[in-house]
Amino acid sequence: MKRKDFLKTGLTAGAGLTLPIFTSQKPIPVIRKARNIIFFSYDGFTWEDFSSAQHFSHRNFGKSLHLEKLFHRGAAGSMQSHSLTSMVTDSAAATTTWATGRKIVNGSLSIYPDGEELTTILELAKAEGKATGIVSNTTITHATPAGWIAKHLNRRDEENIAEQYAAFKADVMIGGGVEAFDPNLRSDRKDLFKPFKDSGYSVVTDLEDFRTVQPDKLLAALSEDHVPYEIDRRFRAVPAPTHREMAEKGLAILDGAENGFVLHIESGRIDHANHRTDAGASLWEVIAADETLGMLMEYVDKTPETVLIMASDHGTGGASVYGVGERYRSSSEIHDLLNKRTASFPWIMRELGRNPSEAFIKEILTETTGVHVSESNVRILQQAIAGDNRMPDEAAFPRQPIATLGYVLKGGTNDLPTHLNINYGTTQHTAGAVPAAIYGNGVDAKPFGLIDNTDFFYWMTEAMDIDYQNPEMSPEKAASFYE
Ligand SMILES: [Zn+2]
Repeated sequence: MKRKDFLKTGLTAGAGLTLPIFTSQKPIPVIRKARNIIFFSYDGFTWEDFSSAQHFSHRNFGKSLHLEKLFHRGAAGSMQSHSLTSMVTDSAAATTTWATGRKIVNGSLSIYPDGEELTTILELAKAEGKATGIVSNTTITHATPAGWIAKHLNRRDEENIAEQYAAFKADVMIGGGVEAFDPNLRSDRKDLFKPFKDSGYSVVTDLEDFRTVQPDKLLAALSEDHVPYEIDRRFRAVPAPTHREMAEKGLAILDGAENGFVLHIESGRIDHANHRTDAGASLWEVIAADETLGMLMEYVDKTPETVLIMASDHGTGGASVYGVGERYRSSSEIHDLLNKRTASFPWIMRELGRNPSEAFIKEILTETTGVHVSESNVRILQQAIAGDNRMPDEAAFPRQPIATLGYVLKGGTNDLPTHLNINYGTTQHTAGAVPAAIYGNGVDAKPFGLIDNTDFFYWMTEAMDIDYQNPEMSPEKAASFYE
């Protein structure tokens, strides 16, 4: 056979077939049984993001991240995240896999394309008499928390997801997203707060009420859409709960539950910031998550039979922190410029408005990023704002003009940056393996190497002595529904 023919045959033979990527069900490194499981997900978080936050924390706060301690003291490794029909997952498929042990098609929540529903770890825990909860700084009906309760072919149908929450009734639901519950904001005018109030829940939408309420069961929707970015809360006095106080409230309610609990906490906005190539917002989300993590590790240390799992669901943005200068000696100093970022990109764009002058753009960008942009870059930004009527909002993925803001703030060249030595490769999700760890009493503190995101479901069920397998679907069959 000629080489050309061989290549042709080889390619044809391989096209469309599933690669033999392992989907292990590795023995659990958590050896003892667990009454309580806390699953802390970092959405869109890569090892590179970890490194960025680690160095920032050491150089600016003079201390280690709790995440470093977790990786040292717990069992840690990397997790591969491909979904059933794509090497790159979205959050819906990824969270489903944690919650059910099965890979599904991107965009769906705990359901196969033929409508067959999967049973989630929260349903299994509830059936065992355990208390359950979800906490997130996204809308509480957003994909990552939703996949642990709701079944839906379209993750974006958050109004329906709220109805499924009303049917399931987890003991704790804390996040943003009033709009999916409030009759004045829902398209069908249904009052989705009512079924919770009728069942004895405290329903809270006000931050002060949230801080004082001490309920047995809680639905807290603390902002219309997602909870504001940490960088804006911290430096721009935007009213918002901290991530830690949301998690702490959820934990306080579930603590002492008679048969234990399963609590899923998400830091969901690392992903949003990375989608927008917003390195400053992303960094402060990681720092805020780290404060939550420290609190959770302390809780685990003093609470027997409690296991903490930390995992990213996938990478977002592919940001890389690159070497600068002779022997790369300037890398850390240039990375310190993150210190000058004091507002998120959406905050900056709202401040600039629809027709900002050159002077105003320069003033705002200098104040919020420390960057003195060139006149030509100011013009590029003005043109992007003028040419696009869709002003960026919290719900939109990064398009013009917000991606243009990322571009003009980059400045210089990659080898010799005048601004920050962080370069985003994409505004989409990425395929690479991501950080994961397990911590708690009885956890064998060895690295677990490379695991698959299916593994967590089996670790959790084994820890809780639950014997359950969800139905499987082949990638070929799943793909056939979308041909
Ligand atoms: Zn995600």
